[in-house]
Amino acid sequence: MNRFRWNHLQSWQLLATALAPWFLILAAIGLLNAIGLGWLVQGVGWLLFLLIVTPVVLLGVGFWWLRRNLITGPCPACGQPVMVLRGLESACPHCGAPLNAGGQTVQRQSPPGTIDVQAVEVGRRELRDSELRDSERRDR
Ligand SMILES: [Zn+2]
Repeated sequence: MNRFRWNHLQSWQLLATALAPWFLILAAIGLLNAIGLGWLVQGVGWLLFLLIVTPVVLLGVGFWWLRRNLITGPCPACGQPVMVLRGLESACPHCGAPLNAGGQTVQRQSPPGTIDVQAVEVGRRELRDSELRDSERRDR
């Protein structure tokens, strides 16, 4: 005979053993309600509810905040992908360049006294025209 083959009686016994604590809890709740301590049961229920719901809500708010404040993009100095928190100074883990978040992009943090300029590409013809204008101005 196979030792591990259960008959119906054994399965019912196992099920009863597994469910016994739950029936005990239900019986205790019914008893507390019957003797007028239903508020205690409700209080414990609310406490359990808050213990479960609070971490879920906090996690949701945390992820929402991270999605709003975590800026990802290429490092302006070395081009490697980096993540920067908005409002927090950090450094590139690849090249060590000081970084911060500017709007929706990762920006290199310039040392104090640095003047940021925007480079504009100028065609040869425009450059020659402006030189001509300058020389005409000087001649007058
Ligand atoms: Zn870098």
